[in-house]
Amino acid sequence: MKEIYVFGAGASYASGRTPLGDELGWSYFFDANSLYRMENGRPAIDDIEEKNIEFITFKKFLNLAKNIYPELREDEKFERALSRGEQYIPYNLDKRYYMDEMLRILYEKKDGESAKLIKQLVYEHIVESSFDSRNLLYNNFLNLISKYKVRKDITIISLNYDTLLREYFDNGIDKGIYIDYLVNFDCFCRKEYKYGNNIVPVIKLRGSLDWGICNECNNLSLFHWHLRRYSYDDRKCKYCNYALEPFIILPHEEVNKKIEVLWKKAARDLRIAKKITIIGYSFPPYDKKVIELFANSMNSDVDLEVVDNEDMNERIQIRRNEIQRNYKKMFPHLNKNIKVNLGGFEKYISDLEKKE
Ligand SMILES: [Zn+2]
Repeated sequence: MKEIYVFGAGASYASGRTPLGDELGWSYFFDANSLYRMENGRPAIDDIEEKNIEFITFKKFLNLAKNIYPELREDEKFERALSRGEQYIPYNLDKRYYMDEMLRILYEKKDGESAKLIKQLVYEHIVESSFDSRNLLYNNFLNLISKYKVRKDITIISLNYDTLLREYFDNGIDKGIYIDYLVNFDCFCRKEYKYGNNIVPVIKLRGSLDWGICNECNNLSLFHWHLRRYSYDDRKCKYCNYALEPFIILPHEEVNKKIEVLWKKAARDLRIAKKITIIGYSFPPYDKKVIELFANSMNSDVDLEVVDNEDMNERIQIRRNEIQRNYKKMFPHLNKNIKVNLGGFEKYISDLEKKE
């Protein structure tokens, strides 16, 4: 019986503290844990200069944000972040400042260079913030899978760029579970990646930070999951010596031909899946292609379970109704009721563990 797990940003946030929503991009400087050397109660000038070089992407990002949103020039905290290198941590930042909104504006302006900067920032922020996370939830999840793998045929579909699922593989070769990205890489940085026994396919529809693309010859390389913000600084294509970039497809961007095959494989698995569990992903309207993929591929008799978070008791029923209504609208062909579980990823895993 084919069973599919779909992971979105909410799952990686719960497992590895990867940034999401108003944090993504904006709290990068803070998350990279960079404290200034103080002098007379203020950050030392030379240290600010040093960090301006080290965090040049963040600085460029703040300047870009200022151009897109002129009102930020009025914000004293923002100006200080820019001129004196202080952190700028948003608190309940309005939705229009989120990365996906910024990207939408940039694509409308056809400003590819700035979109590339956002891509670099997203890369740096995710790898730096998940650097020393404990990542327990994904690990426990994969442990469970390896236990009941014999009974079930599992595919994971991930909308995330982070490498947290693979981290388990490299730390736990003896646990006997391996991840297969189902991509024909042109180049491997680690031979032992291919292949073990208990293989779980992980289909990453939007690419992954450990995949390096050459924009000259379109060759794709696979790197170790353990990345830092500077990891790509001197990575060159083996074939044409062009600089490699992390292969990620941002919202509003066209899917690269290189991974069209993954979308086909996802469609094939969605068609035969008896059960689909969606964790921390909400099918936002800008993910038109993903919504289409699920709408056109899911079997009408599939059992669908949605795992999400709602902390306020009095909101649980409202949220459940909202989610069910939204799913009915997106996927009107589904016959069965959609199960909504609002206890979050952590509780979902511990309930599964109890069942085993
Ligand atoms: Zn190349």
